[in-house]
This record gives sequence, structure tokens and C-alpha cells, in this order.
Amino acid sequence: MTITTAIVGYGNLGRSAETLIKAQPDLELFGIFSRRSELDTDTPVYPVDSINDYADQIDVLYLCLGSATDIPEQAPDFAKHFTTVDTYDNHKQLPHHYATMNAVAGEAGNVAIIATGWDPGLFSLNRVLGAAVFPEPQQNTFWGRGLSQGHSNAIRGVEGVKYGVQYTIPREDAIAAAKAGNGADIDGKDAHLRQCWIVADEADHDRITDTIVNMPDYFVGYQTEVHFISEEEFLRDHQGLPHGGRVITSGTLGKTKSTVEFALDLESNPDFTAAVLVAYGRAAARLKAEGKTGAFTVLEVPPYLLSTKSLEDLIAQDL
Ligand code: NDP
Repeated sequence: MTITTAIVGYGNLGRSAETLIKAQPDLELFGIFSRRSELDTDTPVYPVDSINDYADQIDVLYLCLGSATDIPEQAPDFAKHFTTVDTYDNHKQLPHHYATMNAVAGEAGNVAIIATGWDPGLFSLNRVLGAAVFPEPQQNTFWGRGLSQGHSNAIRGVEGVKYGVQYTIPREDAIAAAKAGNGADIDGKDAHLRQCWIVADEADHDRITDTIVNMPDYFVGYQTEVHFISEEEFLRDHQGLPHGGRVITSGTLGKTKSTVEFALDLESNPDFTAAVLVAYGRAAARLKAEGKTGAFTVLEVPPYLLSTKSLEDLIAQDL
């Protein structure tokens, strides 16, 4: 079965999704919907305001929008007319997003797979799997070193910020302690530094710093550094989008100790996030074809639905 997909929002994630959809044998790309009329791409571009006119022609809509405001404001309307997949990454707001999308998609008879990507996403799966096998699991998640797109988007939303990025950097001693099973006292907030590099007028520096370190959900409670640099330095040193991280779970099993680790080393965060998003689009189309409706997290989607192989082939070759 060929699955016809479309992208809404053409930023880093949208551009990566465009390339990766075209590389998949069972997916085709109908077009890209954007708030901007001109995009640098050969794929057909449509105004996002006209998207509902094409609802009958699209099986899965990839929501490649920002998490800070775009997804909370727009995702429910898309779910009224389309089966959707998103990479929403505001962890504290996930229960609310899940409930909203479940209500809207359920009523419309659509499927909405939420919070795919790697964190939330594949890390969430591995947190649950790791913890499930130990009677008393000790679990730690580390991020980076890497550029956090969600946090970078959040600081770029602060008035007066011309350019801004945020790197998350884990402490090596904290990783070693977690691997040794001594991670109980590691607080995720203490184990990471949030380092911001910003271009802004000098008159705005104090206000911008204050706004960032006091931003709820994103920075409050973390060790946060805010550095202001020249535009030239920013364009020279801060153009890549690397990321990575690890989920480490350890525990005692009877008289023995075991450690489970899931690690990612990503040259491009948007490429990998889009790769996961794209695969969950395949699952969304299959769930919809099975008659399922409502919102699903990655915890609720059977892994075989993500694969291009049939369940029979997976059982024969990959179990
Ligand atoms: P971008 O800031 O690149 O894009 C967000 C939106 O902004 C786009 O959809 C686009 O909408 C608009 N936009 C992009 N570029 C421009 C531009 N030059 N001028 C005007 N508007 C523009 O965000 P990313 O694609 O990097 O990331 C999207 C979200 O993915 C993030 O907010 C983050 O929360 C999430 N994410 C989740 C991860 C996970 O593991 N779950 C990992 C990484 C990211 P339009 O085309 O309509 O203008």
C-alpha cells in the first residue's frame, strides 16, 4: 500500500522529513503546506490556509511545527481533518496535548500519534522498557552534548533575540555514576548545563538573560549560562545541529546486577527526529486502516507497524 503524506511547516524538521519521505518505498509526498508562499524546494507548496481542501487526498499529515506555540495552537485543528503525527516535546504539557488530540481525533475518526522523535519518542520507549525489567530500577536520562531545538526555539521567542542557540551538556561523572548503578542521587537538572549563545543589542542583554533563566518548563531549575556573542561569531561557530544522549537503567536482579543503555549519537538532530516521525507516519496510516481512532503515544503503537517489512517477515528474520 502506498501512503500519501504531506508536511505542514517547513523548518529544519520539515526539510529533513521531505528528504526522508522521498527515500521510503511505500511513502509518497503530496506537498508542503506553509504559512510562507515561497519556499526553496521542488516539492509542490500550498498555503496552509487551503489545507482542508486536500484532506481527501492525504493519508498522513506530518506536523513539522514548533512546539512552543505552533503545536498547542494548531495541532487540534489539523487533527479534525487529518491523521497526524507530531514531535511535540514540551514534556510537562504532554498529558494535556494527549487529551486534546485524543478528543479531537477521536471525534473526527482520525488517528493522532503524538510526541514522536527521540525525546519524547524513542527515549520514552526505552525508559519504560528499561524500568519494566527491574524490580527496583535506577534510571537516568542524559542529553547531549547537543543543540536543543525546543529550547533554542524558546529563546528565539524572547523579544530582542536576533540569533540564539542552546546546547545541553551532560556531566561525565554523572554518566559514569549512572552506569555503575549509583545514579540515585543524580538530579537531571544538576547533571546538565544549559548553555545559551545569543546575538542581541547590548541594551537588551540583562532583560533577555532574566527572561531566559526564569522561563518555566524550559530553564527554571537548571544551571543556565547565557552568553552574548557577535553575529559573525554566531554564524561561524553555531550553525550545526548535532545532538544525542542516553537512557541508562540499572538494578539488582536477585543476586546479580545489570545495566541497560540506549544511546544516540546524532550528527543532525532534525534528520534523526524526522526519521522517527516519518516511520510513525507509516504506523498512523496502518492504525487508521485498522479502524483505530484517537491519540496514541509511542508507548501504544506496536513496533511492527513502523516497519516496511510484514509482521510475518519480522517474526521470521528479526525476532
Ligand atoms: P523550526 O523553527 O525550524 O521550524 C518551526 C516552524 O517555523 C516551521 O514549521 C515553519 O513554519 C516556521 N519556519 C521555519 N523556518 C522559517 C523561516 N526561515 N521563516 C519563517 N518561518 C519559518 O523548528 P524545527 O523544525 O527545528 O523543530 C520543530 C519542532 O520539533 C521543535 O519545536 C521541537 O519542539 C521539535 N523537536 C522534537 C524532538 C523530539 O525528539 N521529540 C527533537 C527535535 C525537535 P512555516 O513553514 O509554516 O512558516
